[in-house]
Amino acid sequence: MLKFNQIDALRQHLESQRLTAKRIGFVPTMGALHQGHLSLIANARQENDVVVCSIFVNPTQFNNQEDFDQYPRILKEDEELLKANGCDVLFAPDAQEMYPEKPLIKFEFGELERVMEGAHRPGHFSGVGLVVSKLFHIVQPHRAYFGEKDYQQLCIIRQMVTQLNFPLEVIGVPIVREADGLAMSSRNKRLSAEERQQALIFSKVLREAQAALLNKQSVQEVKEWLAKTFEAAPEGVQLEYFEIAHRNTLASISVIEDPNDVILCIAGFVGNVRLIDNMFLIS
Ligand code: AMP
Repeated sequence: MLKFNQIDALRQHLESQRLTAKRIGFVPTMGALHQGHLSLIANARQENDVVVCSIFVNPTQFNNQEDFDQYPRILKEDEELLKANGCDVLFAPDAQEMYPEKPLIKFEFGELERVMEGAHRPGHFSGVGLVVSKLFHIVQPHRAYFGEKDYQQLCIIRQMVTQLNFPLEVIGVPIVREADGLAMSSRNKRLSAEERQQALIFSKVLREAQAALLNKQSVQEVKEWLAKTFEAAPEGVQLEYFEIAHRNTLASISVIEDPNDVILCIAGFVGNVRLIDNMFLIS
């Protein structure tokens, strides 16, 4: 595996690959890699000649300084995992390389970012749009892989790629979970053993809400049940939002017409660790 910290050197290498008609698959990450990331790499490996992974904890997408400071950074371990899992090229720039000057450009994604993560993390998707578009310009991949774990992010990136005519295909990859249902996340590393158990509430209520909705309980009833469940949860476990939304527009749904269109999304805290999860109504 080749490792680059500098944009110019990475570009030169990838240009030589493109000249020999190699297809480039790209997996952008913030590191602290787990099986969820490796599933993106595996998909990229299958569908491309060259697999590029980036690791960059992007300051412009954090609206909470503590979250940014506490974000796990374990580059040496990540490198070993990538080597063992078929990554050809690692791009690991520092903030100075990515943002030599304060970026002026802001992104807005309209209704898509007025809900859920966008509503609770002001500026987050502008930062995501900025870093992902910079990475797309730098890597110029044929295909880019994103997890359904960050479902709203996936929708926003699809929109950005369409509206800005990036010549690449966006591939969404299903959520990878621990055996007990917890969605894998780099932030899980920050949970104590007790918090790790408590964090199961998110996947558990999603599954139960899914079953209740498929059993014809109303959206209103399920939302009330879920809010009550969190009220009864241990101290430190907090619901930030639970949404029943259209899978394309992310608009909140009050009456389910076609179950195939529906996604359930949740976010909250266990201690000071913020977690998100989601499930399609029909998976
Ligand atoms: P991150 O390093 O958290 O920015 O994530 C990098 C990419 O991995 C994003 O496209 C995420 O959606 C994806 N990802 C993170 N966790 C998972 C998971 N449990 N299953 C599938 N994809 C994931």
